[in-house]
Amino acid sequence: MESALTARDRVGVQDFVLLENFTSEAAFIENLRKRFKENLIYTYIGSVLVSVNPYKELEIYTKQNMERYRGVSFYEVSPHLYAIADNSYRSLRTERKDQCILISGESGAGKTEATKKILQYYAVTCPASQQVETVKDRLLQSNPVLEAFGNAKTLRNDNSSRFGKYMDVQFDYRGAPVGGHILNYLLEKSRVVHQNHGERNFHIFYQLLEGGEEDLLRRLGLEKNPQQYHYLVKGHCARVSSINDKNEWKIMRRALSVISFNDSEDLLSIVASVLHLGNVQFAADEQGNAQVTTENQIKYLARLLAVDGSVLRDALIHKKIIAKGEELVSPLNLEQAAYARDALAKAIYGRTFSWLVNKVNKSLAYKASDPLTTVLGLLDIYGFEVFQHNSFEQFCINYCNEKLQQLFIELTLKSEQEEYESEGIAWEPVQYFNNKIICDLVEEKFKGIISILDEECLRPGDATDMTFLEKLEETVKNHPHFLTHKLADQKTRKSLGREEFRLSHYAGDVTYSVAGFLDKNNDLLFRNLKETMCNSENPIINQCFDRTELTDKKRPETAATQFKNSLSKLMEILMSKEPSYIRCMKPNDAKQADRFDEVLIRHQVKYLGLMENLRVRRAGFAYRRKYEVFLQRYKSLCPETWPTWDGRPYDGVAVLVKHLGYKPEEYKMGRTKIFIRFPKTLFATEDALEV
Ligand code: ATP
Ligand code: MG
Repeated sequence: MESALTARDRVGVQDFVLLENFTSEAAFIENLRKRFKENLIYTYIGSVLVSVNPYKELEIYTKQNMERYRGVSFYEVSPHLYAIADNSYRSLRTERKDQCILISGESGAGKTEATKKILQYYAVTCPASQQVETVKDRLLQSNPVLEAFGNAKTLRNDNSSRFGKYMDVQFDYRGAPVGGHILNYLLEKSRVVHQNHGERNFHIFYQLLEGGEEDLLRRLGLEKNPQQYHYLVKGHCARVSSINDKNEWKIMRRALSVISFNDSEDLLSIVASVLHLGNVQFAADEQGNAQVTTENQIKYLARLLAVDGSVLRDALIHKKIIAKGEELVSPLNLEQAAYARDALAKAIYGRTFSWLVNKVNKSLAYKASDPLTTVLGLLDIYGFEVFQHNSFEQFCINYCNEKLQQLFIELTLKSEQEEYESEGIAWEPVQYFNNKIICDLVEEKFKGIISILDEECLRPGDATDMTFLEKLEETVKNHPHFLTHKLADQKTRKSLGREEFRLSHYAGDVTYSVAGFLDKNNDLLFRNLKETMCNSENPIINQCFDRTELTDKKRPETAATQFKNSLSKLMEILMSKEPSYIRCMKPNDAKQADRFDEVLIRHQVKYLGLMENLRVRRAGFAYRRKYEVFLQRYKSLCPETWPTWDGRPYDGVAVLVKHLGYKPEEYKMGRTKIFIRFPKTLFATEDALEV
């Protein structure tokens, strides 16, 4: 048999806290690499699970494996998603405390796959009954529906989630899933009207064209060929080898029926209407005013959206404002009309997506604040993003990651401290970077970036992206985490454009271009288009566009403020639960198996804050175990504890470590656990077992 030592050489340690040189990033990455090579994609940092996307099917998600992890202590089995899932579930049952599992990582790292695998684990291992089966089914089937509408092929991931998702699963007193609820965050609506080269629009469009039955397509006025639709040709890649749209269509349709959907024709009419909208064209008349040249599209749109065609046509080429109680209507030029059309497409799609989430929620029978139930939340949300060009979307996403990092630090430190206290061991303070300063920079009232952005958005007259940047410079000029071209010194200045600002995030510097910030934050839809939609007789559109929007004097919340508020609610939800963490990484940009790109991994180790995480976790002791567990494992190493120890486990361990020659500075005895400071002490003990 391979000795423990050589096995460690080959496959690395299964918990990073056992790395001798725990401050070395190189040692960290080497350990990951070794394990990845052996198809060991999971490794712990204490109770945090680090996962590296294998980009191939591994035989580790079988029913047998699920059984192996069921009810078994964390450390008795190799690291796995199921261990985290099972551990959370058990705390939920035994302590009756709500749980949450936070999954983070960059695009393509495996967050959504992990979420699905955890749900499957619960579906298989939790108690069942007729009613529960329905809920389980709906929980699982909500995925294909939301993925069809919310996921797309990007350069980074063929099935990239373009929205953030938090899903609560509710369990009854027997531990059976009886309900669920989904919150969605910031769908990337801009994708509806534009895709970068090599990317696609949301899956549903291709699924419908590829899989939709002939008479359905005829009713919707659609042709099978995606090349016919302006909104589908921007990325020049309607077909993707890894995606079978026809098959996905079938899966999506079946999923819709499971969540008891009986208005699918209304829904698909909306999907089709977006495609028709994209094909609406304009030409300028003699005065330069836009006129619609594609009557046929208007005809279909009128039918699909159940609105008056001529009203819609007019609304697409005019702008209506109410000033001093009077309606003013003015014609739009070509550019403005195209803008209005795209804004309508985005609004229709975005709102329909939220409607869909709502619809799924209704089918999940969630009982809000029922004292007899407990809740386990799964958060699958975009990781830190740094692109060549970063805009409003990256700004929001990275802000979200700052908030999650803050929560993580607070909760990890808190739970470490609490464990020390409850075990009666002196707490040794840990030095760490508190990123609250960056969160404040973004979200503080009056002088935070979002506040200043909103102020510019509300200011009538000549506000532009550049005036926003200038105001930002004035207000936060001395902030250590903020920089612009003007504020930078000679040397740094070169790396900053005149319309950019740079934030020093906890994970590194990101430079944002302000172009489009005002527009995206305002997220405006011209009034007459809104009115037209409010009069729609398509029941879904009708629910999506509420008349009160037209009469409400208050301006709707800006996109950034809405996001900020929804994040703050999310933080509250997460704070009230006991968290577990899964940190996902991708091993290469080519989506290939067995390729470990160290540079890419190093970036992710940094963005995920893993070294900091390990430092906090290792600040005091590398290893801790319950006395019973420790004694059981090592009792054979001491004649006094072998074959059985009749006294208290505490005393048994005391005798055992004395026999093994542990020095006082190497360990501490807590109330229920032994704490070992250095990995080498433990390894020596482990190796002694082998001899
Ligand atoms: P995004 O932020 O873009 O939504 P993500 O982190 O959710 O990305 P996933 O969609 O979960 O990424 O994973 C991307 C792809 O990687 C999957 O479609 C699948 O091919 C592969 N993959 C991820 N996790 C695993 C796994 N555990 N085993 C095998 N393949 C995996
Ligand atoms: Mg995803």
